[in-house]
Amino acid sequence: MTEQLRFDDQVVVVTGAGGGLGKAYATFFGSRGAKVVVNDLGGSFKGEGNSTKAADVVVEEIKKAGGQAVANYDSVENGEKIIETAIQNYGRIDVLINNAGILRDISFKNMSDADWDLIMKVHVKGAYKCARAAWPYFRKQKYGRVINTASAAGLFGSFGQCNYSAAKLAQVGFTETLAKEGAKYNIISNVIAPIAASRMTETVMPPDVLQALKPEWVVPLVAVLVHKSNTTENGSIWEVGGGHIAKLRWERSSGLLLKADESYTASAVLKQWNKVTDFSNPQYPSGPNDFMTLLEESMKMGPSEQ
Ligand code: NAD
Repeated sequence: MTEQLRFDDQVVVVTGAGGGLGKAYATFFGSRGAKVVVNDLGGSFKGEGNSTKAADVVVEEIKKAGGQAVANYDSVENGEKIIETAIQNYGRIDVLINNAGILRDISFKNMSDADWDLIMKVHVKGAYKCARAAWPYFRKQKYGRVINTASAAGLFGSFGQCNYSAAKLAQVGFTETLAKEGAKYNIISNVIAPIAASRMTETVMPPDVLQALKPEWVVPLVAVLVHKSNTTENGSIWEVGGGHIAKLRWERSSGLLLKADESYTASAVLKQWNKVTDFSNPQYPSGPNDFMTLLEESMKMGPSEQ
């Protein structure tokens, strides 16, 4: 029999937990012994309005099933208030799931500053504010687990989602740096690009596909990553949904290396362009140091062949 992952005595904050993926995380952690802060602003998927109902319904559901939960209705833009709810009610925070999100889809040509700014505020500033407020507690107790939520739209681009794509790829850079800064304090951060049926996707996917993409099927990966037993997967990028889990990483062509002197011209580059784009012998860089090594090699080279 497989051992159940438990989160007894841990405090888990899930943002945007009033529906979709956030609700699936919150009810899961509530059923595995955690005390859950169910945050949700309760607005529309375009970020309009607010209501206490979304969070309240999930809190009731967790309590009815015998779990412990408390609601918070603040926008993630005021992340410190969400973390305060955890501290005031439960005295600590162990896990932060940055999940809240909205869409303002529109072609780039027609995008307004308001469409851009609101997406940045909710996704980028929101994830920052929540993590920033949790960080001192994580450092002090030498324990913390963070999940940030990216999207395939951010990794690959998506028509009509320029604002959302930019905000979602920002989650990757944010996570990579949190992972590096948190490692020595046992603060582990990972970023997921999920796919799941929710009000965000219900209008763009056919019913049979939605049926195969239950939000509950994103939960197991998140549970594994934020569990105390995970001490090695830090700063990783994951694609998850419909029973599929995969890890993503950067790939770099082996590249063209020329001596950086007056012989290093556009025509010299063009002459060997195939080397720039050749992925037959790829590298998998994980930090700027890899690139610095290349630069050092270039400085040691003789005059470039033209
Ligand atoms: P959803 O709309 O069901 O859930 C998002 C929740 O966030 C909502 O309950 C909403 O009220 C809440 N929210 C919005 N703005 C908020 C704010 N400022 N403060 C607090 N709460 C706020 O959508 P979902 O599909 O469950 O999305 C969850 C996350 O996953 C989002 O970050 C989304 O961008 C991301 N995502 C989802 C998919 C997918 O296929 N569903 C794909 C890629 C990424």
